[in-house]
Amino acid sequence: ETSGRTVLDAADICVSFGGVRAVDHVSVSVAEGQVVGVIGPNGSGKTTLLNALSGVVPASGRLAVEGHRVRLGGPERSRRAGLVRMFQQPQPYRFLTCQENVLIATPDRRARGLGSAWLLRPRMLHIERARWAASLAALDRVGLAAKAQVPAAILTYGEQRLLDVARGISAEPRVLMLDEPSAGLNDTETAQLLVLLRSVAADGVALLVIDHKIDFIDALCDRITVLETGQVVAEGPPAHVWQDRRVMDAYLGT
Ligand code: ADP
Repeated sequence: ETSGRTVLDAADICVSFGGVRAVDHVSVSVAEGQVVGVIGPNGSGKTTLLNALSGVVPASGRLAVEGHRVRLGGPERSRRAGLVRMFQQPQPYRFLTCQENVLIATPDRRARGLGSAWLLRPRMLHIERARWAASLAALDRVGLAAKAQVPAAILTYGEQRLLDVARGISAEPRVLMLDEPSAGLNDTETAQLLVLLRSVAADGVALLVIDHKIDFIDALCDRITVLETGQVVAEGPPAHVWQDRRVMDAYLGT
């Protein structure tokens, strides 16, 4: 854990569906290089919290990324601020190759409207070659270099999730939010994912991770936020949170 600058700072986040407060004054912050876990029973508001931060559901509260205020309720604004969301089910383009899947997740830095200016061709070529190399590097990082040219459809479920991580890091996030990344993975794949996510955090990305596998969360996270019916009921380093009476009752069956 680096005790670095705060990257994600969300305060007093509220989301209501009709009369139901799915997220009720939740505050969570993640420092550079830190992994924060979000746990809680089904329906406690975990996914809705990520939806709020991603701007895909109407929410109130305050959100800042690296000290810059981000207005809630706009997916494009959240994305531009550096928040990248990964979903529960890997959703690769099945008939594109793995490398193509990564390439289309990479920001396109070409100046819009200048795409056909032949005088800029050397510069364009340089940018495109750099993106090409970066996409291969991302695949290499998740252990899929050998599969760069195969269609995503033929990957195993675990490999599809790794491809998803390659896509996530290629989007150059400041905050990477993952919803149940260990779901459907076997123990070996889960261990591999853990090492990978720690290395992404070590690069300075702030990670916010929902998961049900308590061992995985315990080994992965620097801090844990526990939700119950939309509210934070415990927060802190894993060792601290596991000692909380309510958490023990809910998770550890004591
Ligand atoms: P969790 O991820 O912890 O399982 P959710 O965030 O999915 O919990 O759900 C929190 C609460 O909000 C639940 O009561 C759920 O039924 C409700 N909810 C979630 N999404 C919607 C929606 N789009 N419309 C209405 N209610 C929703």
